[in-house]
Amino acid sequence: MEIEITRIDQPKAKPDESNLGFGTIFTDHMFTMDYTEGKGWHDARITPYSAFDMNPATMVLHYGQTIFEGLKAYRKEDGSVQLFRPRDNFARLNRSAKALCLPEIDEEEAMEALMTLLEMEKEWVPSAPGTSLYIRPFTIAMDPYIGLKSSPKVRFMIILSPVGAYYPEGFNPVKIWVSPEHVRAVRGGLGAAKTAANYAASLYATEIAQQEGYTQVLWLDGVERKYVEEVGSMNIFFVIDDEVVTPELSGSILAGITRDSVLKLAAHQGKKVAEKRIAIDDVFKAHEEGRLQEVFGSGTAAVISPVGMVKFGDREITVGDGGAGPVASNLFTDLMDIQYGRNEDPMEWIVPVK
Ligand SMILES: *Cc1c(COP(=O)(O)O)cnc(C)c1O
Repeated sequence: MEIEITRIDQPKAKPDESNLGFGTIFTDHMFTMDYTEGKGWHDARITPYSAFDMNPATMVLHYGQTIFEGLKAYRKEDGSVQLFRPRDNFARLNRSAKALCLPEIDEEEAMEALMTLLEMEKEWVPSAPGTSLYIRPFTIAMDPYIGLKSSPKVRFMIILSPVGAYYPEGFNPVKIWVSPEHVRAVRGGLGAAKTAANYAASLYATEIAQQEGYTQVLWLDGVERKYVEEVGSMNIFFVIDDEVVTPELSGSILAGITRDSVLKLAAHQGKKVAEKRIAIDDVFKAHEEGRLQEVFGSGTAAVISPVGMVKFGDREITVGDGGAGPVASNLFTDLMDIQYGRNEDPMEWIVPVK
């Protein structure tokens, strides 16, 4: 693949690493590639990061034909930079593309685009503890047409954002609220795709949860409203009777790469792991019987997010002693140590950046 490179005249000043937050600062350059039906992908280019013109009729703005990914570049103590399972992100982007009738990209070309961009932006990968460079690849429908069809013009972009540590105040558990009314996705719908609609669908219930004093919504399945699916925009795990369990992929659950890594790493460490249907009533029953040891979420942003309290209807339970449990804490440390190159990589998940 030919990538045309236009460099910025005046590189921006790098931000203060002690105060990065999430998703507001962007690097000097971005990658763009266009797709036209009949022609395929063309005009791969890296240009200075900037706004771009959009016709108000551009299809993505009206019908939400868009997909995205999220991964991170980590700086090791020796100064080198590495990625965690990046090909899995592009494979998932292509599964999302299928679900949204968007064109797939060649995974190796996407890797080449990302690597070329990262080599140019390497200085933007922060080195303070827990910080990283967040990578956001996305694909959008670009045809200026307000009739409903699948867009014949599409754009794929990669933008980069230095982000702070997720837990600046320590590895603290969150309180989660089971929505009795709202669902984020249904089987046969788009739940397994990383697409805008699911996040728009989650905002209202999240606002209610926050008004009630909870951090995140625990989503139940959209059909029977009985089975646990995800927490916020993370996958969810339970430790019950020393077994690490997560809901099986049902079609309405996003197949998280952190979820898969937790399952594989826990199994590698000799823990019992399982993917199965988990009824919320059984979670509460396990708690009553003293068998519910831990609850935690998993995702690229937080890696592991311990859950201290769960509220469902008029019942509220405190998980364990309300603090982060040993399984969550150990998985958090072990995964971070692999991602930051502080520990060996038994699963060959790491891809170094030149
Ligand atoms: C991105 C995402 C996750 C986590 O996926 P990772 O690959 O682990 O970052 C889980 N659930 C939803 C809904 C997501 O969008």
